[in-house]
Amino acid sequence: MQVGITGGIGSGKSTVCKIFEVLDIPVYYADDRAKWLMNNDTNLIEGIKSVFGNEAYHPDGTLNRPFIANIVFNDKSKLAELNALVHPAVFQDGVSWNEANASAPYTLKEAAILFESGSYLTVDKVITVFAPKEIRIKRVLMRDDTTREAIEARMDKQMPEEEKIERSDFVIYNDDEHSLIEQVLDIHRKILELK
Ligand code: ATP
Repeated sequence: MQVGITGGIGSGKSTVCKIFEVLDIPVYYADDRAKWLMNNDTNLIEGIKSVFGNEAYHPDGTLNRPFIANIVFNDKSKLAELNALVHPAVFQDGVSWNEANASAPYTLKEAAILFESGSYLTVDKVITVFAPKEIRIKRVLMRDDTTREAIEARMDKQMPEEEKIERSDFVIYNDDEHSLIEQVLDIHRKILELK
């Protein structure tokens, strides 16, 4: 069984996944893995160069992230072209990773855009991590070298949290009022019972 875990920027997905990892549940970090593949998967690199040109990569072969981000942030069709290259590569990579972790009771797939990318269709259950907007902004400002405006611009591009919650099987409230550990343990037990 594979369980997807999602939530908006700064909601606490990675933090929640660390708790699942303590329970020996393997976690596939789709966003981190996508970044790795864009730097290392030769087919994907060729595809990206054919859409964005050689400038998409630095002379040392690493992805020119600001160059690509600047284009796709303002051009929906270029974003769709990039996604059409990256999403299947991450999907295939996830399939191999799942096979390698087949002995686990279940696995988790962490992705900020689980619904938007269509990967929710490939998982059996979905968990959304929710935190109120102001808490998320405060936490991301502490974590990253960024601005409130940049965080809000990212939030505006993401699916509304209410919609994610509606489409999920489980919700984890990461709002300074609920215990994260207790919620994770409860969901962990429920998933094991489902098996
Ligand atoms: P992103 O989508 O931006 O990668 P995320 O959903 O994975 O974010 P995290 O990185 O887990 O979110 O959390 C955002 C920041 O908030 C981190 O610095 C994390 O340590 C902190 N944080 C998360 N949950 C809590 C909490 N319950 N109490 C205090 N800090 C928290």
